[in-house]
Amino acid sequence: MKSRVLVLGAGFGGMELSTLLSEALGEKADVTLIDKGDAFVFGFSKLDVMFGRTTPEAVRLPYRCFVKPGVRFLHETIKAIDPAARRVVTDAGTYEADFLVVALGADFDLAATSGLAEGGHEFYSVAGATRLREVLPAFSRGHAIVGVAAAPFKCPPAPSECALLLDDYLTTRGVRGACEISLVLPLSSPVPASAEMSRALVAEFAEKGIALKIGRAVKALEPGRKIAVLDDGTELPYDLYLGVPRHRVPQPVVDAGMSEDGWIPIDPRTLETRFPGVYAIGDGAATGTPKSGSFAESAARAVCASILARQQGSDERHLYAAVGSCYVELGGGRLGRMDLDFYSGPKLKSIYYEPSAAWREDKQKFGAGRRTRWFGL
Ligand SMILES: Cc1cc2nc3c(=O)[nH]c(=O)nc-3n(C[C@H](O)[C@H](O)[C@H](O)COP(=O)(O)OP(=O)(O)OC[C@H]3O[C@@H](n4cnc5c(N)ncnc54)[C@H](O)[C@@H]3O)c2cc1C
Repeated sequence: MKSRVLVLGAGFGGMELSTLLSEALGEKADVTLIDKGDAFVFGFSKLDVMFGRTTPEAVRLPYRCFVKPGVRFLHETIKAIDPAARRVVTDAGTYEADFLVVALGADFDLAATSGLAEGGHEFYSVAGATRLREVLPAFSRGHAIVGVAAAPFKCPPAPSECALLLDDYLTTRGVRGACEISLVLPLSSPVPASAEMSRALVAEFAEKGIALKIGRAVKALEPGRKIAVLDDGTELPYDLYLGVPRHRVPQPVVDAGMSEDGWIPIDPRTLETRFPGVYAIGDGAATGTPKSGSFAESAARAVCASILARQQGSDERHLYAAVGSCYVELGGGRLGRMDLDFYSGPKLKSIYYEPSAAWREDKQKFGAGRRTRWFGL
């Protein structure tokens, strides 16, 4: 039986789910995919943009190229969600569905960290990364802090990568000797899912003279005094602050009563919310697994299989495997890789691959494969 599927958000999770449903059902799929943006940008492209390795224009993948049988893409902004009725109101219309999948990712709450908007820079949005292209060339001496306001946050290795790429960037400009770099992370280690990757990063920080403050969050900035205040009261002077703001689900999800403490509670294996026929995938869902693109895709695979089963009258629930690969930039053109698998065994299986320049090509393939799969580019 044909059923209507409404997918909210065309990021990693929403695009992969729509693609899978289209592949399975072709023109018989009845998928509506809604996003307020007109283009997708990979998370990792933001680091490339901020350090001037590419331009903001070059990394935009326009949704007009996302064309799949049985899927219609709507460039509209979601204003309200009624999960009990599986009804969504946008700035252009009202839509109802048999299955509703919330894949709206996470928003950044700059205001949650006093002084951040006035006295610091965030590098997690395209706009923030683009602004930093103008700011970084003017930084030639003093103390740079890469700081995180709160966990959980997208792509746990990204702040470490930012600190190491900043070291590269300042070294290339010949000013590294006049600069200090500190990294403040509210995690137990740089990448909690991989002890080996964490060790490699810590060794890299030590070699490059990057001061690591682990298990600490940046509570506030005092722009007048140029001080970052950590959650244990420590005050760190800064000249340049590169921040990861506190994350939470977008406001329409909060207003819909679907979130608790900033995230959407779900069954961690089936990804069902407490509303029948309503799933949440990707960064917004309280899965407890890393907030990264490959995990959003893993979630999309499970939800696709469950929706297809239910369309065929089966009650079988397909489980979220929580498998994914992450590439981590260590500077000097080297990348490490880790493959994570949370659920197929009794405990997290984490495979670590030594950093090398060879992984760059692999990461490029990761991006190029999705560009082709989703956008035909
Ligand atoms: C600096 C950085 C580096 C990263 N590096 C990697 C990496 O190397 N590998 C990796 O796998 N992941 C990486 N990530 C993480 C990755 O980008 C996210 O985890 C992933 O995008 C999450 O997918 P998602 O589908 O949950 O949400 P998103 O991809 O964020 O998509 C959510 C979509 O919802 C839309 N939306 C939100 N609100 C509304 C609304 N009201 N109306 C309509 N549409 C709306 C947004 O426009 C967006 O397109 C990185 C992230 C950052 C910031």
